[in-house]
Amino acid sequence: MSVVTSDSTSSRSSQSPAAAGWQREAILALFALPFNVLMTRAASVHQANFDPSQVQVSTLLSIKTGGCPEDCAYCPQAARYDTGLSAHKLMSTEQVLERAREAKAAGATRFCMGAAWRSPKDREVAKVAEMVAGVKALGLETCATLGMLKPGQADALKSAGLDYYNHNLDTAPEFYGEVIHTRAFQDRLDTLQQVRAAGMKTCCGGIVGMGETREQRAGLLQALANMNPPPESVPINQLVQVPGTPLHGTEALDPFEFVRTVAVARILMPQSMVRLSAGRESMSDELQALCFLAGANSIFYGEKLLTTGNPDVERDRALFARLGLVPMPTTDAPGTAHLDLMATTQPGDACTA
Ligand code: SF4
Repeated sequence: MSVVTSDSTSSRSSQSPAAAGWQREAILALFALPFNVLMTRAASVHQANFDPSQVQVSTLLSIKTGGCPEDCAYCPQAARYDTGLSAHKLMSTEQVLERAREAKAAGATRFCMGAAWRSPKDREVAKVAEMVAGVKALGLETCATLGMLKPGQADALKSAGLDYYNHNLDTAPEFYGEVIHTRAFQDRLDTLQQVRAAGMKTCCGGIVGMGETREQRAGLLQALANMNPPPESVPINQLVQVPGTPLHGTEALDPFEFVRTVAVARILMPQSMVRLSAGRESMSDELQALCFLAGANSIFYGEKLLTTGNPDVERDRALFARLGLVPMPTTDAPGTAHLDLMATTQPGDACTA
């Protein structure tokens, strides 16, 4: 049997992110490593770049839910699918600030606002900018996920004090058209480019288990890793199969393949936060532990992501205690639990566009 050893790919993990230049074949070679070899590699990269006992803790507020005109086949927020989701319009600034105050009182240092829009209108961006400024004034870091941005909108958000913008690639370029027909892969890159040009950090990942091949999973990671620079946060979502969405009934992904995806993401993007996002509710504690060993170092925390469930707080606390994990301290307030309320687009929320 031909076994790809760590030697054939190890040099890349020490390169600067901007110089990554990952080829699809090299990424597939990582996926094909014996499971234990891949895990050892990923854990080694994780340890070289982070304290592996620390996990960033994230949560997310949906400020506008459902009624989205897009047709993302995984998403219950798409207006065209009958999923029983109760939509709500954009929250008022005061409602959002009240939630932000609660988050801060609970120890949060970062607050993310997610809205199910294809692309916000300028007046909607102005409303969110008002929220961003208010949240910032509370002393919190700010994140948002609002869909595709038109020229000038990223600058407006940045000027209001937005630190991070979430915008997922969703899947590999060649599989994108199988999942979404109302926008193109290039649209995502264009918005991310505007976010970078405005000086904001990016949170950008994708969804696996949508019926894509391993090569297409590698293609998603290739697109992410070869960004210059790679996203600061990389949410890896597992499809949450929501009845009423076209992807409901898709063959489930082998859990070990999910862990492999996390491990390869860690190796390809050594300095990024790799976030276990949607789909965690259905994962066993043992599977989550394998993901942490594979280099995942961020989770969503709380009852809900955008519209799908998330393990409850007590279960997460118990899991952290069993595994000896601790919340990652913030860089600006060492020792403080980091509740990164950063959004992610994900299955059934893989968006927020
Ligand atoms: S993932 Fe985002 S863009 Fe797609 S349908 Fe859902 S809310 Fe709309």
